[in-house]
Amino acid sequence: MLYLSTRGHPDRKHFCEILLEGLAPDGGLYLPERYPRVDPATLARWRGLPYHELAFEILSLYIDDIPAADRRAVCAKTYTPEVFGTREIVPLKKLEDGLYLEALSNGPTLAFKDMAMQLLGNLFEYELGRRGEQLNILGATSGDTGSAAEYAMRGKKGVRVFMTSPHGRMSPFQQAQMFSLQDANIHNLALEGVFDDCQDIVKAVSNDLEFKRKYRIGTVNSINWARLVAQVVYYFAGYFQATKHDSQKVSFAVPSGNFGNICAGHVARMMGLPVERLVLATNENDVLDEFFRTGVYRVRAGADTHETSSPSMDISKASNFERFVFDLLGRDAARTKTLFGDELARNGRIDLSRDPAFKQARERFGFISGKSTHSDRLATIRSTWERLGVMVDTHTADGLKVARENLEAGVPMIVLETALPVKFAAAIVEALGREPERPARFEGLERLPRRVTVLPPDVGQVKSYIAAHCG
Ligand SMILES: *Cc1c(COP(=O)(O)O)cnc(C)c1O
Repeated sequence: MLYLSTRGHPDRKHFCEILLEGLAPDGGLYLPERYPRVDPATLARWRGLPYHELAFEILSLYIDDIPAADRRAVCAKTYTPEVFGTREIVPLKKLEDGLYLEALSNGPTLAFKDMAMQLLGNLFEYELGRRGEQLNILGATSGDTGSAAEYAMRGKKGVRVFMTSPHGRMSPFQQAQMFSLQDANIHNLALEGVFDDCQDIVKAVSNDLEFKRKYRIGTVNSINWARLVAQVVYYFAGYFQATKHDSQKVSFAVPSGNFGNICAGHVARMMGLPVERLVLATNENDVLDEFFRTGVYRVRAGADTHETSSPSMDISKASNFERFVFDLLGRDAARTKTLFGDELARNGRIDLSRDPAFKQARERFGFISGKSTHSDRLATIRSTWERLGVMVDTHTADGLKVARENLEAGVPMIVLETALPVKFAAAIVEALGREPERPARFEGLERLPRRVTVLPPDVGQVKSYIAAHCG
């Protein structure tokens, strides 16, 4: 399997080449040349597999430059009950008839990002070891991505992590999670600014090509194809748990921000998984809901990005969205390049409202969308707790609210649980008047010693820190 750029760059690459890269050289995103189709006999065979073997089967369709035995070993090492808490890895919970919750948040940092990041950590260690290279990961986080990256990379040979976050702005639990890590290869940099400052500094460092090369700077952001393909696996796993045989269809409801999670659902559907609808849920930051309702994709300015109680979905533009538009336009790379390279930069928007392709988003690709606000979240958390005795976090509540608006008779709806409530305790207390449940292994987390360096939001100081700690 070879990979191409959504903007038409002539090079074709193998999996391990794009594994350690970010964007394609022309600014596009990498996608496989085609989506492998899974025939009914294969689907039937996969139904009985444990999660790590299902992961091996799916990844094997996309990776041709790691020997099978090593692929299998990486999957087996990643998806264990010890790391993910259950034998099923992503157990399905029935909420009521036709409505399910797929638990993706029982990994080390209690958010779904562990599902992909844990695999990425093992793939990075494998590939860097094979090449005899080192990588210094520089990132910006408002919470979930940074902790997932740190827990995936801690103690890994050949990898260091420098993670910037806005000083004092993550939830207390998220801060404790990240800053209590004592591993020598993990560096927490709390910058005295907001998340956008962190992101700007990461961009500025990455744009300094000489610095980037000298210090072997890389990223683990959500546009990484390996993260996406890892997420494809749990769509299959959820489907098998919700159905008895492969003639049935299901729908998925996905709390969305950067369009990474639901893009994996799109890939699963393109591979032939019987998915009726992909239901995209946003919070008040409704860039994507607006697109699927109107055909206009309008990125927001930083100042117009709301700070909400589902903060991991507070985005002004969706970094993975270009992948879907490329498919929507029949894989027209020239057009994708014009839209995302020129028009978006010039006008801050892409207008497909009068394009016949836009209708295909719903009719051919199965997408529908909806939006959920702070009061919707509180109401959903409350009613789910009172009626069903199930506590959901704010992001999952957004997904559940929009899922309920789009139920169809005879089609099971699977809501993806993207985080556990304990990560966002303040909103739970507001909704329920009580503290969220806390898994036993996190008792006393806030009292552990911390390892974090506070710096002004200054590119020079971040660079000096990296240079001084790069060995
Ligand atoms: C990252 C995240 C999301 C958004 O996922 P995308 O892949 O960016 O769409 C939703 N919920 C939680 C809890 C997250 O951490």
